[in-house]
Amino acid sequence: MNLHEFQGKQILESYGATIQKGILAYNNKEALEAAKKIKQETGTSFFVVKAQVHAGGRGKGGGIKLAKSFEEVDSFSSSIIGMNLVTPQTSKEGKKVNKVLVCQDVYEPGEFEIREFYFSILLDRKTSKNVIVYSTEGGMDIEEVAEKTPELIFKEIINPDTGVLSFQARKIAFNLGLKGVAFKEMLKFVNSAYNAYLGSDSSLVEINPLIQNSSNNILAVDCKFVIDDNSIYRNTEIGLMRDKSEENPDELEAAEFGLNYVKLDGNVGCVVNGAGLAMATMDLIKQAGGNPANFLDVGGTADANRVEQAFRIILKDNNVKCILVNIFGGIVRCDRVAQGIVDAYNKIGEINIPIIVRLQGTNAEIAKDIIDSSGLQVHSVTLFKDAALKVQELLS
Ligand code: GDP
Ligand code: MN
Repeated sequence: MNLHEFQGKQILESYGATIQKGILAYNNKEALEAAKKIKQETGTSFFVVKAQVHAGGRGKGGGIKLAKSFEEVDSFSSSIIGMNLVTPQTSKEGKKVNKVLVCQDVYEPGEFEIREFYFSILLDRKTSKNVIVYSTEGGMDIEEVAEKTPELIFKEIINPDTGVLSFQARKIAFNLGLKGVAFKEMLKFVNSAYNAYLGSDSSLVEINPLIQNSSNNILAVDCKFVIDDNSIYRNTEIGLMRDKSEENPDELEAAEFGLNYVKLDGNVGCVVNGAGLAMATMDLIKQAGGNPANFLDVGGTADANRVEQAFRIILKDNNVKCILVNIFGGIVRCDRVAQGIVDAYNKIGEINIPIIVRLQGTNAEIAKDIIDSSGLQVHSVTLFKDAALKVQELLS
């Protein structure tokens, strides 16, 4: 589960990190009030209006605007709220913006040079440990830095048994070239961010940019949290931060039926039981010259109802040219699934695209008979290889 910037910042702050403060607003009137309140508290007349959507690269897409007056806060929030924000991380259609975070501009010049750092914590699968990734080259083009000058990106592996050791935090502050107050604040920040990462059961906490401001303080300007879905049951407060309006409606509907569905851009829909087999099926489709339209794991109980829901969700996608059902009958009996497919097909009616069904395992023979004698436009195959050939044939 992804969090919004404002929610991530809330968590970071609760663990003692300093953040660029902001107030959430759902319309330009609220944005204006927010700016007035920020002026009262801080004295500043410079603000940033930041679109709150589950996608990065907002700056590049016009979702982050510097406002030098209340009038500008008003006009920028009016134009950002309601817009379809297209960024390098969204689809071509973009994401509808429902709310903005009005923040104090924290880049006001002063005694010290303002510097933007990159800072993230994630799980390193190679070492099975957490890793802090950081760089002096923070800001909007970190992807380019990673590609062209990877030597400017540092990594610090953290042993989960010990947590961040003090020499590690000092090394990070030193490599970022910090001195005086900023050096000390960075030690505190590293610990706060690491505790926030652990405490929220995140798989990623990314702060880009983390800045050294003109008073030599360290503060988080942006913030992204990816929470491990399997932990939400024990983090009730974080669970409440879920913003369903940011999620794909078909994926949400699928989840209600206990289907693990992820929408993709291809032309072959797939209905599979088991995540591993689903991945293998997607590879198979690719090798056969197609592209998977989705990942879909129907789980252990591939009954008629689930198969029907799976078909319905996949059929909403106009790109889908055929559907490949690939079920291994281990726990579930193939003949029951076959009957489920026939029932679902009849119930939905008007399925105008071919369906390839591969049922393998318990009662596979009986299942094939059920499909073959159903009179429906369903092609049954037994071997994985034949499924691939059939996909190839139907797409050509
Ligand atoms: P992202 O584009 O989605 O990653 O959104 P960010 O929150 O990182 O904002 C994008 C960029 O806006 C940052 O890299 C900063 O350079 C800039 N920015 C954010 N806050 C401020 C601010 O208070 N003042 C100024 N001058 N720039 C800011
Ligand atoms: Mn950012």
